[in-house]
Amino acid sequence: MVGLSFRWGWSETTRGQQPGLMPQERGAGKRGTTRAGPGSPDNPVRPAGPRGCRVLGMTLPILPSTAPPSADSAPAYLALHRSGELARRAADAVAALACCNHCPRRCGANRLGGETGECAMGRHARVASYGPHHGEEDVLRGRAPAGHPPGTRRAPAEGGSRVAGRGSGSGTIFFLQCNLHCVFCQNFDISHGAGGRALPPESLAEVLLELQALGCHNLNFVTPSHVVPQILEALPLAIEHGLRLPLVYNTSAYDALETLRLLDGVVDVYMPDLKLWDPAVARRYLDAEDYPEVARAALREMHRQVGVLQVDEHGLARRGVLVRHLVMPGGVAGTREAMAFLARELSPDTYVNLMAQYHPAGQVSPRTCGEIARRITSAEFAAALEAARECGLHRFDGARAGPCGP
Ligand code: SF4
Repeated sequence: MVGLSFRWGWSETTRGQQPGLMPQERGAGKRGTTRAGPGSPDNPVRPAGPRGCRVLGMTLPILPSTAPPSADSAPAYLALHRSGELARRAADAVAALACCNHCPRRCGANRLGGETGECAMGRHARVASYGPHHGEEDVLRGRAPAGHPPGTRRAPAEGGSRVAGRGSGSGTIFFLQCNLHCVFCQNFDISHGAGGRALPPESLAEVLLELQALGCHNLNFVTPSHVVPQILEALPLAIEHGLRLPLVYNTSAYDALETLRLLDGVVDVYMPDLKLWDPAVARRYLDAEDYPEVARAALREMHRQVGVLQVDEHGLARRGVLVRHLVMPGGVAGTREAMAFLARELSPDTYVNLMAQYHPAGQVSPRTCGEIARRITSAEFAAALEAARECGLHRFDGARAGPCGP
């Protein structure tokens, strides 16, 4: 067992949630004290029917994949592992840490020799916390069987094990630090904080296997762009010990194409943010003027690798791209342009989580960024959804929304 923070009971998505239980509360069965947004286990806003979810007073359709799930639902990485290709890629990626250009920052830091670059990450990945997450999209967290709230254990008469079917959560691993510097970061303490523990590959593999043993539906690498070599290095070890879960790459989309190509055939589900459209806005809020261009190229590459999202007979994501877009105050995110891009250059069938949970966080204050120092309004979210529909998109995740202003 790796001695890390283990948090569960979080109520919102991995973009914009607040941590729930602290390490000392582990296993106590308590839920976090953070607000439980609509759609969370604590505050369910559930569909009026099997094909709709209520969000801010609107019903969003949740449609099945337009393509049938693959008949072979085994994770793609097994074939790469058997051929030896996975280990070869891992070795090359780790060696390249000697002059790290793994992300668009291209710092050239010698991470094998003790240097760190913009991401402040060295040789080994540092993990802030990990655990089953029940606040993710339904296609990742699943839904609990009747009589079994997500993540609960069966009664002894039923075997006593964690509910291993639908509703067992997404196995999130929160990596410390980030290669972006978003002033509004909704996870500021993780993305820019200290602490955690540096995990050698054996320990990271152990974390992956522990999440599988807990019954999670998938492994969800949160903000992984700066630790791809370390993930690749841990995978063969975990696979040798029975890892079989689909892998979710949960990213800001500030990813280098060469690094994404290392993940071709490894990642089953890409879950990129598409944050901002305008380079000047990206410079101001992300410290990365090239973010829009980099993110567009990254999304094209992800779509090339895995296509539109496919779900299995249980409604769980098996393969494909799931795009998150955080609607921001005053339309600064460029939602209409972003949605048009998805429909035009990926597919109108792209699965989108349009998120309403933006709140001032990180370094945002009325003094520093007054224009985004508020929540969005219901009207702003409605306009964003309408823009997405007008662009031809029609597959929306309906369970994500946070409190909005009037
Ligand atoms: S992963 Fe980190 S060290 Fe490497 S290029 Fe990106 S920011 Fe720099």
